[in-house]
Amino acid sequence: MLDKVLIANRGEIALRILRACKELGIKTVAVHSKADRELMHVRLADEAVCIGPASSAQSYLNIPALISAAEVTDASAIHPGYGFLSENANFAEQVERSGFVFIGPRAETIRLMGDKVSAIEAMKKAGVPTVPGSDGPVPDDPQQTLAIARRIGYPVIIKAAAGGGGRGMRVVHSEAHLLSSISVTQNEANAAFGDGTVYMEKFLEHPRHVEVQVLADGQGNAVHLYDRDCSLQRRHQKVLEEAPAPHLDQEARARVLKACTDACLTINYRGAGTFEFLYENGQFFFIEMNTRVQVEHPVTEMVTGVDIVKEQLRIAAGMPLSITQDDVQLNGHAFECRINAEDSRTFMPSPGKVTLYHAPGGLGVRMDSHLYTGYSVPPHYDSLIGKLITWGASREIALTRMRIALDELLVEGIKTNIDLQKDLVRDSHFQQGGVNIHYLEKKLAQ
Ligand code: ADP
Repeated sequence: MLDKVLIANRGEIALRILRACKELGIKTVAVHSKADRELMHVRLADEAVCIGPASSAQSYLNIPALISAAEVTDASAIHPGYGFLSENANFAEQVERSGFVFIGPRAETIRLMGDKVSAIEAMKKAGVPTVPGSDGPVPDDPQQTLAIARRIGYPVIIKAAAGGGGRGMRVVHSEAHLLSSISVTQNEANAAFGDGTVYMEKFLEHPRHVEVQVLADGQGNAVHLYDRDCSLQRRHQKVLEEAPAPHLDQEARARVLKACTDACLTINYRGAGTFEFLYENGQFFFIEMNTRVQVEHPVTEMVTGVDIVKEQLRIAAGMPLSITQDDVQLNGHAFECRINAEDSRTFMPSPGKVTLYHAPGGLGVRMDSHLYTGYSVPPHYDSLIGKLITWGASREIALTRMRIALDELLVEGIKTNIDLQKDLVRDSHFQQGGVNIHYLEKKLAQ
């Protein structure tokens, strides 16, 4: 097993990783910015190192500072969590070159999946269904470009190869706007990501977001942990997730799950990963792969009993997967409500001191949060302050438990989106299951 892990992240995921390390008897190093001395996991870690000022660019994104911290504490491995440097191939490379284990895929895999054009090409080759599209970057020749769009059929979406976080995309409804939209997206992509490459896809009008969790050890073993539905989104940010995804076409589902594990073996994937799909009319269309642990991983843990972060640590230590596909049995249903420090109606961030925190409990209730009474949410980072997860033998029981748990949850002193979540778990369409990715924004607009 690894001896000592440096956790290159903050907030709830840093605490989640710390807990997994403790269970495996691994020593922990917390790194934190000057604004984050009071974080819960900093108090619980074996060692803590301040890596810089509040600004993420100078702390959590500061590669030399992170590697120095690993050196001075004699850590053996670095866990990047999600966000920050988790999908930065240069970071993975520098970590390994400095003699530490990067807890994630190899740098070349991160690079392959970080460029969406190469990711789609690799997935297509591996037999994963993709969205009908330009099969590569949009060509320079306008006539060829117009012909591709005609073949795909309008509306189409222009996407930056280097895009992420819902940025660098533009929908085009008619031929008259195609070429100008492409050049605007190219310029934006160049400015935002330093790479102006764009590609084209059919724009699906009413899809659901369904994703598949995988684990692979890079030693010839790969399993899927079934699917999640993350269709409730605002500005491409997930708000409420569940596992398994309800009401899927079972044949298409079985095919896509198998295609994902096959693809892991084809690209010799190592670590935890997620294949993201749009799902419409019973069909799956791959859009991208995330090469890290995701915020919503707990819902999968609740229905499979597999500890995804512990598996990441075992894989990084060079151990083979501890489970086979036959060991992975779906049991019941789980939901996750993301709790954010923001106004429930305006979505304005609301940092500040938490004057009272009370977490819900009971059978099938899990709260992943770094909050405590007296903690001050700093203004410098993402507004996620916790994740409330419930499990039940059926979807209905899990959802009922979520309603009760949200009513028990108290966060005072700052504004939160708890009221929005209370509305969502009582929404009749959501209760039926299977709403599409536009549902939440439409509901909010009303
Ligand atoms: P990012 O890396 O920025 O998250 P994705 O490729 O995952 O980009 O797309 C983000 C979101 O944009 C999707 O969840 C979906 O809502 C929308 N989207 C992307 N591609 C399409 C498409 N072909 N048709 C319809 N919506 C799309």
